[in-house]
Amino acid sequence: MFASKMLLSTLKDVPQEAKIPSHILLLRAGMIKNEVSGVFNYLPLGLRVIRKIENIIREEMDRSGALEILCSAIQPKELWVESGRWQKYGPELIRFSDRHDREFCLGPTHEEIFTSLVRDLVKSSKSLPLNIYQIQTKYRDEVRPRFGLMRSREFIMKDAYSFDKDEEGLDKSYQNMYDTYTRIFNRFKLNFKVVLADTGAIGGNSSHQFMALSEVGESDIVYCDDCGYAADVEKAEARVDVYNGGELKEVEEVYTPEKRTIEEVANYLNIMPKQMVKTIIYYDNNSKEFVAVLVRGDRDINEIKVINYLDSTENDLRLATNEEIESLGSVHGFCGPINLNVKILVDEEVANLKNCVIGANKESYHLKNVAYDRDFKGLVSCFRKAEAGDLCPICGKPLKKERGIEVGQIFKLQTKYSLAMNCTYTNEKNENVPMVMGCYGIGVSRTLASIIEQYHDDYGIIWPLNVAPYHVVIVPVNSKDEAQNQLAKEMYDKLTKAGVEVILDDRDAKVGFKFKDWELIGIPYIITCGRDAVNGMVEFKRRNDVNNKYLLSKEEVIEEIIKAVEEI
Ligand code: ATP
Ligand code: MG
Repeated sequence: MFASKMLLSTLKDVPQEAKIPSHILLLRAGMIKNEVSGVFNYLPLGLRVIRKIENIIREEMDRSGALEILCSAIQPKELWVESGRWQKYGPELIRFSDRHDREFCLGPTHEEIFTSLVRDLVKSSKSLPLNIYQIQTKYRDEVRPRFGLMRSREFIMKDAYSFDKDEEGLDKSYQNMYDTYTRIFNRFKLNFKVVLADTGAIGGNSSHQFMALSEVGESDIVYCDDCGYAADVEKAEARVDVYNGGELKEVEEVYTPEKRTIEEVANYLNIMPKQMVKTIIYYDNNSKEFVAVLVRGDRDINEIKVINYLDSTENDLRLATNEEIESLGSVHGFCGPINLNVKILVDEEVANLKNCVIGANKESYHLKNVAYDRDFKGLVSCFRKAEAGDLCPICGKPLKKERGIEVGQIFKLQTKYSLAMNCTYTNEKNENVPMVMGCYGIGVSRTLASIIEQYHDDYGIIWPLNVAPYHVVIVPVNSKDEAQNQLAKEMYDKLTKAGVEVILDDRDAKVGFKFKDWELIGIPYIITCGRDAVNGMVEFKRRNDVNNKYLLSKEEVIEEIIKAVEEI
């Protein structure tokens, strides 16, 4: 490929809207372009990387025995009504009607379509187990599309769905996908952790997420180095930290003028945040009731656990407004469970506290020496987020915490969709029984961004060889120099013939400018044909060691590159 024909469009400056390295570098390297927030166009270089990522996923999915199909993004409302998700999915689902007023959505995921396909196509148990997948564009009207390809409204996903006769079959299909995903993310050279996950809107009873470790990740994960336990904080369990505060005293009202936050009250009363209780009032639109959630002052509420406990959804739970709090006889900043006439969810650690400080439901007042059971009651469970330093639920060692990017997730759906949508097979006793399902997603475009997050430096992207848009670029220093051009052309031909993807930089530009481009774009090998071209010698740089250059013979360079490309 000749650089002059590549529609190169690198940018010198950091685009204002981009906040994280992958977004900045994708835009600066001219890999993607967008007109609307969260919707991207892939330019030639970006598309080549996408295709390579897809092909690695495809190879491993095919190897696992899964069958590839391709579905439309357009899905009819009726199937979503059948599964019960037309109501439940909320505003993330992009809905529209056609000219006949028939309603549709753009698929955010494809459980309904695949279940419908299989119930129509598969009649005999001989076809089971079955795993089908596609690599296709998904639509989610995210509340906050951001970070470029990380969280967009249109994105590419590989989604797979397995259909088995029974639980035992599902366990095998699930393990097969677990192993396949592990192979896939290893091939991308990603530093990742597999963690236990909540099942969210997809449903089912067991799930793992594949998390690429990164500062810019939107998920918190806790893990134990000792026994290997690892979980998303939304899902994580940890042992209860008991702090009981000594012998129980009489409840007392204390004046805490204008002190609303845990920190302000703790400082004012000279106590530790863990001696206080945080009372947060929500409105659950699913049950149409207010709910107060209590966690210790040093803790954060785990809203996912609250939602699961209430059997509600993310779209149905919201914070109560100040007016609503007043209508319940309380005051924002001074809420507490005593005499509060709403459903009260009490975190286990709060149930263990003695002599704690809580809001008095009265402007500028708190109550001290309060204890669960004696002074207030509620429904006790785990409603707090796990933190670094909490004790591992399995082995009791302190947990560590890191941020991760969710690049993939696998779920045991069991019969959630097959039951609702009547996707059955006939067993030996001639009974119709629902198939047992699993579903498995990989964010293809998000994986691309995650690779950049883990592979970049101050100059630009450092693509691993197997996903790089091209393997090597050849730069003649002086485009008017016969020897340089000739050597460049000779190496270009030899490498291309050997199956290497080569760029010849034939642009009429300064060599320093050219290097900047290739380093930004992240081409793994850079060959410079300069003064020594007459002797068959070139300057050779590896992108992952860009500050060192080596004067080598054309043969040595060609050999190294062909060998590296053959290995991938
Ligand atoms: P998140 O929690 O990040 O919103 P999710 O759990 O809703 O993601 P899944 O339904 O599990 O996502 O989708 C499978 C995969 O698709 C995810 O693991 C992720 O890699 C990718 N993905 C999901 N939403 C987006 C998005 N808005 N933009 C890019 N990729 C996404
Ligand atoms: Mg997920």
